[in-house]
Amino acid sequence: MADDADVIVVGGGLAGLVAAAEIADAGKRVIVVDQEGEQSLGGQAFWSFGGLFLVDSPEQRRLGIKDSFDLALQDWMGSAGFDRDEDLWPKRWAEAYVAFAAGEKRGWLRAMGHRIFPVVGWAERGGYDAMGHGNSVPRFHVSWGTGPGVVEPFERRARQAQANGRLTFKFRHRVDALSITDGAVDGVSGAILEADPVERGKSSSRKVVGDFTLRAQAVIVASGGIGGNHDLVRQNWPKRLGEAPKNMISGVPEHVDGRMIGITEAAGARLINRDRMWHYVEGIRNWSPIWPRHGIRILPGPSSMWFDATGTRLPSPLFPGSDTLGQLHYIMSTGYDYSWFVLTQSIIKKEFALSGSEQNPDLTGKSWLMTARRTTNKGAPAPVEAFKTHGVDFIVRDNLADRKYIGDRLIRTAKPHRILDPLHGPLIAVKLNILTRKTLGGFETDLDSRVFGNDRKIMPGLYAAGEAAGFGGGGMHGYRSLEGTFLGGCLFSGRNAGRAAAKAAG
Ligand SMILES: Cc1cc2nc3c(=O)[nH]c(=O)nc-3n(C[C@H](O)[C@H](O)[C@H](O)COP(=O)(O)OP(=O)(O)OC[C@H]3O[C@@H](n4cnc5c(N)ncnc54)[C@H](O)[C@@H]3O)c2cc1C
Repeated sequence: MADDADVIVVGGGLAGLVAAAEIADAGKRVIVVDQEGEQSLGGQAFWSFGGLFLVDSPEQRRLGIKDSFDLALQDWMGSAGFDRDEDLWPKRWAEAYVAFAAGEKRGWLRAMGHRIFPVVGWAERGGYDAMGHGNSVPRFHVSWGTGPGVVEPFERRARQAQANGRLTFKFRHRVDALSITDGAVDGVSGAILEADPVERGKSSSRKVVGDFTLRAQAVIVASGGIGGNHDLVRQNWPKRLGEAPKNMISGVPEHVDGRMIGITEAAGARLINRDRMWHYVEGIRNWSPIWPRHGIRILPGPSSMWFDATGTRLPSPLFPGSDTLGQLHYIMSTGYDYSWFVLTQSIIKKEFALSGSEQNPDLTGKSWLMTARRTTNKGAPAPVEAFKTHGVDFIVRDNLADRKYIGDRLIRTAKPHRILDPLHGPLIAVKLNILTRKTLGGFETDLDSRVFGNDRKIMPGLYAAGEAAGFGGGGMHGYRSLEGTFLGGCLFSGRNAGRAAAKAAG
């Protein structure tokens, strides 16, 4: 039977788009298969804040931040805590990825038109010793245009390839199986879902109207993680974080269903580190949801007072923005799955950023004028004010260290003040929920994104990229992330997969 293309990519998220663009630009024919409609092209990355981990960038240098590959690698390894036999490839990926972030990542993106907002954020600050978890310096670079600004160059390249006939999109095609001939993966089959004009990100119909089979020399699985499937999250929940939360909200659309991970595993691929995940504790229920149980993560500055459900302050160093998994572990040990921020209008105005492209119309719309208003406006950005008014997790009433980093002072840290000072009011209490997001484990891959089988040998014809591959290797983050590393992991692993598959296609 003749091949339909040289390579099939399962998933039109960021990792899949990057891989497909590389394959087409290498002169090969590629088909991108996605269960969602064309309107959802770009997957999670479209909704993302577009934060990118970069090392020793011009933006950092302009702000007086001294960073280096060695410091970043030390931070990465201290956060990852690799301690398993199966961490061999994840660790190799981590080293290669930090080199990419300190090297060609910024220039490669820039050459495609990507731009960066000049104030660098300081996420996951840790608070432990120098070799422990956390970023020693600010490294969170927000893309101008947020998530859509990251997707745009790759969608453009993919559309050009589509126009010249090298790339074909098959939307509403859900892969249900991989085909294997003489030990090599050589195609996919599945169901054609009925057309559904739902808005981007909303749950779409699962009514089957046909079936399909496609053949190629290789298949790249870029189907995302499991964060939209709470049953799978609970099944894989690690005991070291306590019991799985009873109540969770979703930081990802429903298509992040983990189904293709099960299908690929059933075909013999080696899934490792499935108990490593990255979920947030600062989730608020979206008063205007797009997907089921839609939650938004607050990217908090350091000044809010943080109380667990029993009214006890979280212990040092678990300040907002310090250690995501440490906070999750602490909160689950209280016997409750929520906590509270108590803050003032002055703090919310400066310190509450909401992670999501639709929650940041100024940055997403690339408007300098609107963005500048963040520093001059009396209120918080409009989407934050809207949460204050409509969000079920907000209570607003009238009664009841300064860090040295210049970026904080400019836009991200409120001046120290007495929390009960009415001049800084009203007082605001925000109930924080656990919000599912990223899957850190995935398919074990070598640096060419080739997938290992359960016999520990490469499965010919099978590649994995993005969240499905644990962002590279089957979990290049180890246990913890330094943030802004997920989009970058999709770029890097998607690029490696695309280039390697194109080369192998001869
Ligand atoms: C609100 C939000 C904010 C974020 N902010 C950041 C940030 O600032 N920085 C950062 O680094 N990361 C961030 N992330 C994380 C990052 O966006 C994701 O980890 C990344 O985009 C995952 O990309 P992916 O291509 O691996 O998977 P996805 O984007 O999930 O794409 C997978 C695609 O595969 C398709 N698919 C799945 N199964 C099948 C099947 N069986 N058949 C056919 N198609 C299938 C899906 O429909 C989907 O289109 C954020 C995520 C969200 C949701």
